Amino acid sequence: MSTETLSFDAARALAASALRAAGASAEAARQTAEALARADLDGIASHGLARVPAYAAQLRAGKVKGEAVPSVTRPSKATVAVDAADGLAYPAIATALAWAASLLPQCGVVAAGVRNSHHAGALGLFVEDLARTAGAFAIAFTNSPAGIAPAGSGTPLFGTNPIAFACPITGRDPLVIDLSLSVVARGRIMVAAQKGEPIPEGWATDPAGRPTTDAKAALAGAMLPIGGAKGAALVLMVELLTAALTASHAGFEASSFFDDKGGPPRIGQLFLAIRPGAVGADQEAVAARVATIIARVLAEPGVRLPGDRRLAIRARQRAEGIGYPAALLAELRALAG
Ligand code: NDP
Repeated sequence: MSTETLSFDAARALAASALRAAGASAEAARQTAEALARADLDGIASHGLARVPAYAAQLRAGKVKGEAVPSVTRPSKATVAVDAADGLAYPAIATALAWAASLLPQCGVVAAGVRNSHHAGALGLFVEDLARTAGAFAIAFTNSPAGIAPAGSGTPLFGTNPIAFACPITGRDPLVIDLSLSVVARGRIMVAAQKGEPIPEGWATDPAGRPTTDAKAALAGAMLPIGGAKGAALVLMVELLTAALTASHAGFEASSFFDDKGGPPRIGQLFLAIRPGAVGADQEAVAARVATIIARVLAEPGVRLPGDRRLAIRARQRAEGIGYPAALLAELRALAG
């Protein structure tokens, strides 16, 4: 597969042009392109510019509203409710995060919900921003279209529902934990199916709920959650924290992020931010405890922090550029006109 290297700025500009040409407002295109290019910069190609063709198709079909403007209500002093209005998720999330950061000093703990939303991409970027800019301990949840079955069933009802967490560490980059609740991303099963290759047991079940190594049967069946029934319980928890609390679609009601079929997915996101010092210990004591815990973890031979691999990729690709499949760039250039 031939590849081409782009700078971060060039990748972001290309994505913005392609989204703009498909009907996204200038602001929605800018914020979406920024998030996707940042995911690529961190090596998360599954949530980077590779998503632009699907987003563009959905914009053209009206499944995603390119001109949507997020609206904000304030149900209480420490909460924010953002309606993404069936637009791309990133402008609504940026609005929610800006409110969370501005309310944090006075409120100590802030919850921000986003409803009528769409694919949130790499969730860790948002909590990292809250840790860096607001000094917050931050946690984020999103639901997504059905892929995982409840424990005991083979019927996919809920999404891969990622959870992301970040907290500041004095003197270094924040800790960022960012994980989906499926054993592997659906994309890896799709690639195996395209190549006619088997998948390892433990990734997915067939439509009858039996373990399978047949990638095509797996795509028709369900992806397995991390940690068996415990992971399936976390999937349900995320679904309730997002779809129920923000009154959004559940995974089994949401249309696909990958094609232009059906109405808007209308899924939900929830962001929680906690200011160090807000729940008992003062800010200095929290920072000292974080430092002690992190130092103890890193004292173990062979151990690194979650998020550090991505930071290393980020630093390298900022200097050297981001490698893209040439076919993807050709498609994006055609979309951008
Ligand atoms: P990974 O499996 O790559 O990583 C999961 C987490 O574990 C990361 O924080 C990672 O840190 C950490 N980790 C893994 N190995 C180690 C190790 N040896 N030591 C310390 N930490 C480690 O992520 P996923 O494939 O689960 O998710 C990829 C992305 O997809 C995420 O950004 C997620 O938000 C996104 N996603 C988005 C969805 C959506 O609907 N918006 C749906 C599903 C996923 P590190 O990265 O530094 O290795």
